[in-house]
Amino acid sequence: MIESSKGINRGLTKKDIKDLINEDKDHECDGIGRDKICVRIVAIADLPSQHGQFQTVAFYNNRDNKEHAALLHGNVINQEDVIVRLHSECLTGDVFGSLRCDCHDQLTSALSTIGKSKAGILIYLRQEGRGIGFINKIKAYALQEEGLDTKEANIALGFRDDEREYSVAAHIIRSLKIRSVRLMTNNPHKITDLEQYGIKITERIPLVIKPNKYNRFYLETKEKEFGHLLEGVAKRFQEQMDIPLFKKIK
Ligand SMILES: [Zn+2]
Ligand SMILES: [Zn+2]
Repeated sequence: MIESSKGINRGLTKKDIKDLINEDKDHECDGIGRDKICVRIVAIADLPSQHGQFQTVAFYNNRDNKEHAALLHGNVINQEDVIVRLHSECLTGDVFGSLRCDCHDQLTSALSTIGKSKAGILIYLRQEGRGIGFINKIKAYALQEEGLDTKEANIALGFRDDEREYSVAAHIIRSLKIRSVRLMTNNPHKITDLEQYGIKITERIPLVIKPNKYNRFYLETKEKEFGHLLEGVAKRFQEQMDIPLFKKIK
């Protein structure tokens, strides 16, 4: 049990944690998705953060030893309408605060919403650079500096436009016994992806990004239509593939 600013937030109890780890100890299924991924809960611990009180779950993955993570707020076991955010790892954005994408803003905005919710999780998927890996992502950035856009750069490197997939997230949602999900996304494809793996989605919550010095430029570019503006922003900020929504500036 961990405390939140608004009284007691009943996160996973010691017993919940013990049970989840014990039940998953010998878990093995056929796996889901293209790569037949199966994950197991291995360890859970408290993680107080700038964005609220969380517990973090470490998953073993049968395919490629990528250690996926989930950050939980509140007790999500057997709950309906749990807020879920899928975030794909972005070293340059998440850690270095890169402005080539909006991953850092999306991550902090999602964590702050989840941190205030009754029950929510952020699933941190270790698929750097939309699945192409860090070296290739930096190669793609270099190609963009030669004038190619994100998509063209990835194709030039021999990858499909987007190598990510969400079967592992679906498995994680099941491992944590979440019954239904309010998915935090601006990208309807994530909903269909998860639904195809049997996840029940009751609502889509848009992810609104606070404007910063960098993206404010786009918002203040009045010569263009709003639709065109979003298109331009999306092209620059494509990594999470969620077209950003911005708060209106007065
Ligand atoms: Zn499995
Ligand atoms: Zn990024």
